[in-house]
Amino acid sequence: MWTNKTLVIASGNRGKLKELSNLFGDFAIEVVSQAELGVASPEETGLSFIENALLKARHASAVTHLPSLADDSGLVIPALDGAPGLYSARYAGVNASDQDNVSLLLERMKYLSGDNRLGCYICALALIRNASDPDPLVVVGRWPGKITRAPRGDSGFGYDPVFLPDNLDQTAAEIDPQVKNQLSHRGQAVAELRSLLR
Ligand code: IMP
Repeated sequence: MWTNKTLVIASGNRGKLKELSNLFGDFAIEVVSQAELGVASPEETGLSFIENALLKARHASAVTHLPSLADDSGLVIPALDGAPGLYSARYAGVNASDQDNVSLLLERMKYLSGDNRLGCYICALALIRNASDPDPLVVVGRWPGKITRAPRGDSGFGYDPVFLPDNLDQTAAEIDPQVKNQLSHRGQAVAELRSLLR
């Protein structure tokens, strides 16, 4: 299926690059990041995580003429009509820090209780053979939980200090990072993609 043995990872985030490169550790594929090839990130104009992952992968393939893998992820709160959703990274503004985003989320959820505090991390991965691939491999991982009233823990990133995964009594910033990687939306998507590739 993969005649070309080099794959571009369409992400500039170091953590993601490492995690996504590891996906291919035991496949005979050389992985390079789009930054190494001078590819800039496209505007994320999709309306869903899947659309944005595909858009990023297609852009990287169009520029490099290589197969490409991209991800898009975020936190979805149904009681906030899906926010912060696609805008998770810049919820409190373009240059917002994780702490700014968390503070805004807690403020917007101040009067919400019970099931209205439910949320879900989502991760879409898209793997394409070329820019016009009509049959991309697309997987979506979901990690359900609820939003706490105050931050707890200092590992992880983003909304982890206020995300309490279902069936756990520690936030995603309090659990062991390796455990997080296995349970998380990204971990689930990566595992599914690996099983499809085999
Ligand atoms: P992306 O880089 O466009 O996929 O944006 C992802 C954003 O969603 C991050 O900047 C975080 O705000 C949030 N996010 C996604 N995955 C996680 C996670 O595992 N923990 C915490 N926040 C996450």
